[in-house]
Amino acid sequence: MLCLIVILKQWIIMKIFCVGRNYIEHAKELGNNVPDEPVIFMKPKNALLPPFSPFYYPEFSNELHYEVELVLRISKNGRYIPPKQANKYYNAITVGIDFTARDIQNELKQKGLPWEKAKAWDNSAVIGNWVDITKETANKPFIFSLKNNDEIVQEGNSSNMIFSFDTIIAHISNYFSLNIGDIIFTGTPAGVGECVVGDILQGFLAEEKMFEVEIK
Ligand code: MG
Repeated sequence: MLCLIVILKQWIIMKIFCVGRNYIEHAKELGNNVPDEPVIFMKPKNALLPPFSPFYYPEFSNELHYEVELVLRISKNGRYIPPKQANKYYNAITVGIDFTARDIQNELKQKGLPWEKAKAWDNSAVIGNWVDITKETANKPFIFSLKNNDEIVQEGNSSNMIFSFDTIIAHISNYFSLNIGDIIFTGTPAGVGECVVGDILQGFLAEEKMFEVEIK
């Protein structure tokens, strides 16, 4: 019973916010300008791959990309949060994948249309196990990486983010209420790439494996 409560607590998600272009090298690799304020988009709840569920290659895309990202979990309700107070509003971190149908996104971008069909489809958000953020870990950079078939394909360090966790939270809260259980994908470092059926993706926070997903 306790185990079930722990699992449920890990998976009660409210809203899913995502930050685009938060690492200079990644913005450049996709030919985008470096933004002067956080680029925010959202995924619906259905975008979250449920625990123990298989991940299927989306039928509408021929170019599925992984984007490994640090993901924060909001622990306090707030609106108009000052950047200096923002660290009181999240208490857990993990690594996740913002799966992207890059072919669809390029089409939409060209037409100046919204990204949801490329980014927010069912099961397009994968998250790993939550790790509590402590006083010791809060002030150090978070190092993370993604392996595809046992080869490292992306490596990131939170100190290279254009917009810090606190800036992102303050910015989002100027437009949307943040609620306990909301999660924030904080942007992907350089090295995004294509994945195909049969690939096995593993996300790491420092040396610790947080998730494993096989593309079916
Ligand atoms: Mg992303």
